[in-house]
Amino acid sequence: LSDWPSAKVVVAGLGVSGFAAADGLVSLGAQVTVLDESEAHADKADLLERLDVTVRLGKGTTAALPEDADLVVTSPGWRPSAPLLRQAAERGVPVWGETELAWRMVQPDRAAPWLAVTGTNGKTTTTTMLASMLTAAGLRTAAVGNIGRPIIEAVLDDEPYDVLAVELSSFQLHWMNSVRMHSAAVLNLHPDHLEWYEGAPDAFDRYVADKARIYEGLTHSAVYNVAEPATERLVEEADVTEGARAIGFTLGTPGLSMVGVVDDLIVDRAFVSQRRDSALELAKVSDVVPFAPHNVENALAAAALARSFGVPARAVSQGLRDLQVPQHRIQTVAQVDDVTWVDDSKATNPHAADAAMRAQESFVWIAGGQAKGVSFDDLVARHGGRMRGAVVLGVDRAEIAEALARHAPQVPVHVLDNPDTGVMEEAVRLAGDMARPGDVVLLSPGCASLDMFTGYADRGEVFAAAVERLTRRIDEE
Ligand code: ADP
Repeated sequence: LSDWPSAKVVVAGLGVSGFAAADGLVSLGAQVTVLDESEAHADKADLLERLDVTVRLGKGTTAALPEDADLVVTSPGWRPSAPLLRQAAERGVPVWGETELAWRMVQPDRAAPWLAVTGTNGKTTTTTMLASMLTAAGLRTAAVGNIGRPIIEAVLDDEPYDVLAVELSSFQLHWMNSVRMHSAAVLNLHPDHLEWYEGAPDAFDRYVADKARIYEGLTHSAVYNVAEPATERLVEEADVTEGARAIGFTLGTPGLSMVGVVDDLIVDRAFVSQRRDSALELAKVSDVVPFAPHNVENALAAAALARSFGVPARAVSQGLRDLQVPQHRIQTVAQVDDVTWVDDSKATNPHAADAAMRAQESFVWIAGGQAKGVSFDDLVARHGGRMRGAVVLGVDRAEIAEALARHAPQVPVHVLDNPDTGVMEEAVRLAGDMARPGDVVLLSPGCASLDMFTGYADRGEVFAAAVERLTRRIDEE
């Protein structure tokens, strides 16, 4: 499909990427129809209708694929079993995500190379670090993809870019098939989003297989996590372009073709001359903020990607120091009466909550939301011994309470049943009652937030506001 003006394209879902796809497609002259079961996006629909896009919103509108469709561009959240996508598969109509579409719109000549990041956790932080390093090197770049800005917006931008820092989720990767990254990193692989695979017994393998797509056809460096052999296996199995290299990152001393840590320095043994003893200092470990081992891993992955694109060492450290730290990730929101209140609302799976808990000596855990088919047993078994207490809420609260009862029966647990956002106020009050001097109260839910909040940011803000009200009262007493 290179002849856009004669193409009839159906855009499935009017979210952030659906809007960008429709807008981009009409600008290339395609005939576009947008379908969405929800009527929540009437404002976006108005804008698109003014551009001659056909928009149909409301129940039943996505039941059937229009007869003359040449291409479907799907929202990443849609599952392959959705009737419209199933009909497309049956009729041989290609289904692309916004990522694939963005790539095809500008290939092969006009495109800035893509440096891509995926993994269960750390994607947004790593992509932000990478973009900061590229900027510090004087390159024109943008952080796009799952981070919130559609890739299409950047590829069709009037401003040219030298390189893009692209964050990709497993869903986006699922609907992508011909994109070739300059370099790409898989940060880690742990259970999340298993419900998307609709009860398949090999749901986790399918999730990993979707992540693996990021390496296919890659031209320069395939970056993996030395501490997670599963990521290295994906590189070994990937069909990369001849001459592409595997580059490891490690918190330990790096071997050849790795970036790693020596004393208090981040060093490069991959993009330097291959003499045995050659290593280049890229940054100080203390340039990483906030400091935590998992965040140093993120910095190492970002550094490897940046170095694969020729970013000089001083821009790596400068980029880390210039960073605007993303919120709701192990963020201290209050310290009162020797109790520290931490907003880690972005921890939407157990592996992310594990990173926050590892650093705590004694803590009260606020947890719960949508568990997405993932088990909490390992998490609770590993950290239950340092838990002062727990408050669980949200639609899958029973699952978490059961894991606590199984693996940490000594931990006092409050299970909150009311389903509205007011429940956070109560959770904060109960957590405050349980906490002792020196403790941390940790909102690290291990679950998605959409059962009660508009997103993780909303959940974190509601938490911080409740903490603010409670701690102000404590201060006044
Ligand atoms: P993502 O974009 O993959 O969701 P974020 O950078 O937004 O990743 O971080 C999500 C959550 O995961 C936060 O709670 C954060 O503290 C935690 N986290 C970040 N990096 C890592 C990592 N490398 N390993 C484990 N957990 C991490």
